[in-house]
Amino acid sequence: MKKNLNFIIVLFSLGLFILSGAALGGYISGRLVAYTPNASCAATMKDVIASAQGDVYNMEGVSDYVEPELYYLAAYSVQRDEIINPAFESVPTDLKDEQKDSALQNQAWKIFTELIPFQNRQMIARYNVFTDGFENTLAAVDQVRDNPSQWVLEIDIADLKDRDALLFTMIHEYAHLLTLNASQVTPDQEIVDDPYNLSLQESKAAVCPNYFAGNGCSHADSYIHAFYNRFWLGLAPEWEKIDTLQYETEDLNPYYDGLYHFYLTHQDQFLDDYSTTHPAEDIAESFAYFVFGPKPTGNSIKEQKTAFFYEYPELIQLRENILNGVCSSE
Ligand SMILES: [Zn+2]
Repeated sequence: MKKNLNFIIVLFSLGLFILSGAALGGYISGRLVAYTPNASCAATMKDVIASAQGDVYNMEGVSDYVEPELYYLAAYSVQRDEIINPAFESVPTDLKDEQKDSALQNQAWKIFTELIPFQNRQMIARYNVFTDGFENTLAAVDQVRDNPSQWVLEIDIADLKDRDALLFTMIHEYAHLLTLNASQVTPDQEIVDDPYNLSLQESKAAVCPNYFAGNGCSHADSYIHAFYNRFWLGLAPEWEKIDTLQYETEDLNPYYDGLYHFYLTHQDQFLDDYSTTHPAEDIAESFAYFVFGPKPTGNSIKEQKTAFFYEYPELIQLRENILNGVCSSE
């Protein structure tokens, strides 16, 4: 498995409560034609997509999975393109070198900032460097607890070794910022304070006139509201029954098994099994496939999910920017 369970858990918790800020409005250019990558960039894009393949919920052959320890190495404030004022937590002796390696920590940040222009990432107020070893969790985002319109980006520096997988995950995580930020979904402090409270989620969803995105009520003109209405309305009753299995229990196996079964039943509609975790994960995965995949030519639901983003000129422009960054920095 490329992404293991730890990856799932972290991303999922993020899927529920992620997001924030800056509008994309200033970034729309007059160029509406889809970017056509040159041959070497197309090969790179293929490699990035390939790095993301693998079932995360297929537990066949996995018996005694042990989640690796995760350590935070440094917590930075973000000031435009710079990361400043790192704070350090105590870490095991064998991680002290990584903790002091500010060059490597800056390198990971720089990879991200070269892909995503400043005006598209103004919601990011903090940058955390962590590690749980190679693979496992590669990157994550989360709302800042005491200011949920701001976000924190987290990157595992051990995963710089697999650039393709890290790029895919960075863009998946960025898609959460894009689709859950305060210009898209109204931040909700009560949910940030109590993220696993199912009845709180249900009561908030009941009074949201649009799609309730897990971390708050989405706006009528938001990407995720449009995506949900187009792709999830028919699936929601079946999926919601499975989703509740993760709450108030120590044993998550029925939940994972339920998601995998759901995926097998509906796999013509999902780009991979991780996408079934939550509509917020589905739109994030679909965005990453939109960025790194070719423009779809067919009309299957999977293709409609990546084609969805071509309806937004600002996202076509953003895709071109990301691919320029990916393909110029090899
Ligand atoms: Zn995610």
